[in-house]
Amino acid sequence: MRHFSRYLFLAALLLPVAAPGQTAADWILTARYVVTEDPAHRVIENGAVAVSGDHILAAGTRAEIEKAYAAKQRLDRPNSILAPGLINTHTHAAMSLLRGVADDLNLQDWLNKFIFPAEAKNVDREFVRWGTRLAALEMALSGTTTYTDMYYFEETVAEETKAAGLRGVLGQTVIGFPAPDYKTPQAALDGAEKFFRAFASDPLIVPAVAPHAIYTVPDDVLQACRRLADKYQKPLVIHLAETKTENDDALKQRRKTPTAALDALGVLNGWTVAAHGVWLNDADLAILKARGTGLAHNPSSNMKLASGIAPVVKILKLGIPMGLGTDGVAGSNNDVDMMEEMDLAAKLQKVSTGDPQALPAQQAFDMATIVGARALRLDKMIGSIEKDKRADLIVIRLDAPHAVPLYNVYSQLVYALKGSDVGDVMVNGKLIVRNRQMLTVDAQAVMAKAAAYGLSVSKSLKGN
Ligand SMILES: [Zn+2]
Repeated sequence: MRHFSRYLFLAALLLPVAAPGQTAADWILTARYVVTEDPAHRVIENGAVAVSGDHILAAGTRAEIEKAYAAKQRLDRPNSILAPGLINTHTHAAMSLLRGVADDLNLQDWLNKFIFPAEAKNVDREFVRWGTRLAALEMALSGTTTYTDMYYFEETVAEETKAAGLRGVLGQTVIGFPAPDYKTPQAALDGAEKFFRAFASDPLIVPAVAPHAIYTVPDDVLQACRRLADKYQKPLVIHLAETKTENDDALKQRRKTPTAALDALGVLNGWTVAAHGVWLNDADLAILKARGTGLAHNPSSNMKLASGIAPVVKILKLGIPMGLGTDGVAGSNNDVDMMEEMDLAAKLQKVSTGDPQALPAQQAFDMATIVGARALRLDKMIGSIEKDKRADLIVIRLDAPHAVPLYNVYSQLVYALKGSDVGDVMVNGKLIVRNRQMLTVDAQAVMAKAAAYGLSVSKSLKGN
């Protein structure tokens, strides 16, 4: 009993005592720089952020925050940048188990000769479970806090996303041929509706319907996807204008670009996130602007599959929100490192326009954070460090050789720092990575399982 009371006494000493005028908080995080991505683009030196529950109470200088708040827990990172979590606006998480299964091909050959057959032979609910778990581990450890997914068995993707503690806009695929989860488009639509109902008001998951693309989904099914998304006020996610082949085929078969064709069907009329947007003419851009479509730019994927270069500078100038994405890992990237996408996005615009001022570092970082949030229409909730937004925060360390010296924070973030510099990650007020250790996923078990899947997938493709 004596011991017990002594512990109580010690515990009381450890608890912060809120001084008069101080507000209680769950966390105070401090860093050398706080990059807010707020409308004024404030970068706060010797900054701090106070968090309560799932949301941000305030950001300011360390002195201001420590004066105003008393926190139960602290994360002090004096040689780091504290930034909003990165937002990956397009990926296929579970395809991480197909990393590098076929490389150096164009999209059509890659899809038809390798990916669709590999998926037909290997993808089931357990594959999706482990693939999503692996991707969640990789995403969190490289600073992604929100991702947009398009795949199969999406309710399992949602379970794993929640277990990892990440935020997801998760699209149940609808496609015009038998898929690993549903054998007909109608079954997939019914499945998507069930998924919408199951995750209607989840704090971390925004369920979505994901018709694969205009060239793989019949028109009436595309329209049914739109109706379903509208009925539940959830997003429709789709691949759009990714390759010249897609564009040429639509012009030949429909006398319309993919964008104009989808618009004529009414598919773009509502909450939509479209991935790629490489082959867009001025009329297409006017349609996307008028419809409020959010876009996802995937520089690694577009380069690797030789799909082309999206007119990002033009798109952003028009005020169309275009975020960044990694696309799937299976051969179009082959990782989910958003720090790399920022760097590539900036350089790709420079080399394609011949203008080194095109897409400067700050704008590339915006795409990975607040503009990505706008593309997903979630910018009231995430994308910047502002009062009342969800506490989705990352700490990026500045202790590596490539991190010094530091003249400009955005330059460092976009051109020098790596995903592997991310040290700590908080999503919805919960710390899920601490000192590069993921707290919610058993990393060793996931990597061992991924290696085992590698062997079985290779075996299944023998004789192809
Ligand atoms: Zn994709």
